[in-house]
Amino acid sequence: MMPVVALVGRPNVGKSTLFNRLTRTRDALVANFPGLTRDRQYGQAKIGELEFIVVDTGGIDGTEEGIELKMAEQSLAAIDEADVVLFMVDGRAGLSSADEGIAAHLRRCHKRTLLVVNKTDGIDADSAVSEFYQLGLGEVYPIAATHGRGVLSLIEIALAPQ
Ligand code: GDP
Ligand code: MG
Repeated sequence: MMPVVALVGRPNVGKSTLFNRLTRTRDALVANFPGLTRDRQYGQAKIGELEFIVVDTGGIDGTEEGIELKMAEQSLAAIDEADVVLFMVDGRAGLSSADEGIAAHLRRCHKRTLLVVNKTDGIDADSAVSEFYQLGLGEVYPIAATHGRGVLSLIEIALAPQ
């Protein structure tokens, strides 16, 4: 069985961009439009020698109603079925209360979770990641999904035998 990696986080942090990079497809809709991916989206990913299933989600922002509530439910289902969760945050926007709400859920889940700070291209990665340690999820991994920086080493760590 291939491991299942879920991409979770509030809208617009770059989940679909990372999904596209991992699957090399245009299947996930990427736009500067929060919440465009309404449902879970599955893809077969290959990076280096590593093969896995990656799950894109619409995003959670902690204030869900209507269609957004459905998206949040999809994210919770994706967390449930994953072997590893990549919890993505936005290194340019900084820490938000939505991030704190998601982190609180993930700490309760006891699911293997890596905290990923995206959009670290062109900014100082060390200072971008520092505030996210307070989410209480351990190590923080900087990446740039658009450029691929940090992605291979992130996946190697995510899929390393425990
Ligand atoms: P999602 O809502 O979490 O799926 O986010 P998207 O993948 O749709 O990306 C939202 C916006 O962030 C788009 O305009 C992307 O081009 C941009 N974005 C994603 N990853 C990066 C990155 O690594 N660096 C920068 N600078 N922008 C990014
Ligand atoms: Mg998306």
